[in-house]
Formats: sequence, structure tokens, C-alpha cells
Amino acid sequence: MRTRVTVLGAGFGGLELTTILSEAFGETLDLVLIDKADAFIFGFSKLDVMFGRRRPAEVRHAYRDIVKPGVRFLQSMVRSIDPVSRRVETDHGAFESDVLVVALGADMDPAATPGLVEGGNEFYSVAGAEALRDVLPRFERGAAIIGVTSKTFKCPPAPSEAALLLHDYLTAHGRRAATDISVVIPFGTPIPPSPETSQAILAAFAERGIRFIKDRLVSALDPDRKVAVLSDGTEMPCDLFLGVPVHRVPAVVVESGLAADAYGWVPVNKQTLETRFPGVYAVGDVNGVGTPKAGVFAEGAARVVAAAIIAQLRGGPSPAPYDGKGSCYVEFGHGHVGRVDVDFLSGPKPTGVFQEPSEALVAEKGLFRTTRLKKWFGHKTA
Ligand SMILES: Cc1cc2nc3c(=O)[nH]c(=O)nc-3n(C[C@H](O)[C@H](O)[C@H](O)COP(=O)(O)OP(=O)(O)OC[C@H]3O[C@@H](n4cnc5c(N)ncnc54)[C@H](O)[C@@H]3O)c2cc1C
Repeated sequence: MRTRVTVLGAGFGGLELTTILSEAFGETLDLVLIDKADAFIFGFSKLDVMFGRRRPAEVRHAYRDIVKPGVRFLQSMVRSIDPVSRRVETDHGAFESDVLVVALGADMDPAATPGLVEGGNEFYSVAGAEALRDVLPRFERGAAIIGVTSKTFKCPPAPSEAALLLHDYLTAHGRRAATDISVVIPFGTPIPPSPETSQAILAAFAERGIRFIKDRLVSALDPDRKVAVLSDGTEMPCDLFLGVPVHRVPAVVVESGLAADAYGWVPVNKQTLETRFPGVYAVGDVNGVGTPKAGVFAEGAARVVAAAIIAQLRGGPSPAPYDGKGSCYVEFGHGHVGRVDVDFLSGPKPTGVFQEPSEALVAEKGLFRTTRLKKWFGHKTA
């Protein structure tokens, strides 16, 4: 019988894992990749969509284009996971597996922040980014806040990038002089593992008159009074709120017993990404391995799990342990892109090396996108 692998979630982690396993085993594998959505969207494309740099249809990469030996894609909602028997129930039937990989990402919970749904906006979901295309043109004057609402959130540079891109947008529309921009972040610096990157972002904020409010969250919005309430009780005027919503472990993962509660990211062996259930791995944002929640880390984790499955099936030596390294591109506005190379697990504390914005990095970020589309979906150009 062919080895049955079930991969839950076709994001960065699930797509990378599926691609490597298909290349290694082809039709000798029986791999089912399950996702409730019909298309993949890069996280950074949400910034492009909200600021009108790309149309929503342009950033959707349809899963029906995944044609890989040994792989079936199923668009369906995962309803339950039994990590002991490695059985999964979906809206389209049940799946038993020899190896189960949970790569369901992080769920967004805007309703957890009072006032956010009624009087704010969020740019972390596709729907939120699309809605902002209509909201931003109506913001003519007043105070804008880009605010984080929970300590754990995807892509730590994204709120700073959103502030710099909002500055460009308002400048291009002749409204910057009539507006204020503030960024509220729960860290002391924009990118804590990399002082150089943080310094560069803070310098860019200072040049553009963007206010940086550190070590605080946005706890609530009061749309009637047009204020945002911060975690220390301070109130700030707020005419436009661009929020990073509370992140939660997907409910189906909590119900499975893989995570203790909605904020307890799935515990895994830091070296192998295996959960406490044999043959069950957790890859990407859903796990609690200690790296930031970003696509590049999800990919790195997927490579380690793929290597473990290959070693197990072929009887080779154990693969190198997960290294917790990843490079993130940082949009500085004015079309400039920098990069930070982060190493989370190999030293006593996380470190990050900064590369100044350059033309070469703009091209590299473009290549990051197109090479993934090619390997995951077989796109020739994108
Ligand atoms: C604005 C923004 C900018 C970003 N920029 C970057 C960047 O520049 N670089 C970077 O590396 N990362 C970036 N990220 C972060 C990145 O998008 C995520 O960290 C990454 O997608 C995580 O990968 P994953 O595979 O763990 O989960 P995801 O990519 O989130 O995939 C999880 C999948 O599971 C599916 N799913 C969830 N629940 C169910 C269910 N019950 N049934 C079926 N399917 C389900 C979802 O539909 C989804 O497709 C950014 C994120 C945002 C919001």
C-alpha cells in the first residue's frame, strides 16, 4: 500500500512540503492536501491590494493549478482532527493517514478587540485588505493609527511597512499634510532581533513624521468618540484604524487536543517539528516553536518535516534539525525594499542582520514570489 500523507492547510508550509514530497516520491505516495480556500495569496500581497498596487484577482493563485504526481488537492473545511489515529474529517469525507501534517496557520479574531469590527479596519485578512481599497480614498484628514492588538502576530515588519506605505499613499493623493500617522506595537523596537533594521525603520519614520508608540497594544476602539484605547489606558484620537487583529490557534486544532487553548500554539519538538503524537507534525504559524510567524519560517519548517518523512520512508539518517532561520523583505516606501536575515534558534538569543534597501533587493523580492509560484503551481511567469 502507498504511504498516506495528509497535509492540512495549503499555505506556505503545506505547499512547500507537498512540493518536496511529490518531487521525492511521485506516484508512489498518496498525498492529500486539504484547504478550505480555492486560492493561495502571499501575505505581502495584502499590502499591495489595500493600497491599490494590485487588483485582488491578480494576487490569487488558484489551487486547481496544482498538478503534481502523487498529490490530490481537496478544497474542503477540516472539521475534526484525531491526532492519535491520524484521522481527519472534512466536509468531503474522512481521511486516514500514516503521516499527518497540520499547517493550518493562525486564525484572525477582529471581534476580540472591542470596537474594531464596528469602527475599525484590519489588513491581515484578504477580505480586510480588499475592503480597505474603498476606505482609504475616503480618509482625507485626521489621525490614522496602525495598531497591533495581540502580542503574537504574523510578519512583525508588516505594521511598520503599512505605515510607510500609507505615508506614500497619502502623499501621492495630496493629503499627507492634513493627516497624522502613528504605529502602536507591543515591542520596544520595530524588529527586536535586529537593532540595525529597527534603527533604519525608526529613521524612516522620523523623516516622514510617523509617530512610533512602543511596548503597547491597542485594546479597544471607541468609534463614537473616535479614540483608540491602548493597553496602558492611554487614549489616542483615531479617525482611521488599520489593525492587526488578535491571532488565535484555529478552533479545530484546539478541539483536537494538539493545542491547550486558543493562544497556546501547538507544542512541538524544536528539532523535528513533531508533536507529542507520533507521526503528527505541526508546521508554520500554527506551531509554538518560537520563531516569528512568517511564511519563510513556515517553509523552513516544512523542509525539515519533508526531510524527516523522506528519511523515514527510505530508511536514511535523521535530517539536520530545524534551524529557525529566515529572511524577510521589508518595504520602506518610495519603492525601496530592505531585508533582514533572522536567526532565532541557533544562538543564546535571536539575531538579525540588516541589508539596506536597494534595487537588487526589489528584484530579489520579485524573484521570491515568482520562484515559489513556479515550484508550487508550475506557473511559467507571474
Ligand atoms: C500583511 C502581511 C504581510 C506579510 N508579509 C510576509 C512577508 O513578507 N514574508 C513572509 O515570510 N511572511 C509574511 N507574512 C506572513 C505569512 O503570510 C504567514 O506567516 C504564512 O502564510 C504562514 O504560513 P502557514 O503555512 O503557516 O499558514 P498559512 O499560509 O496561513 O496557511 C494556512 C492555510 O490553512 C487553511 N485553513 C485554515 N483553517 C482551515 C480549516 N479548518 N480547514 C481547511 N483549511 C483551513 C487556510 O485557508 C490557509 O490557506 C505576511 C502576513 C501578512 C498578513
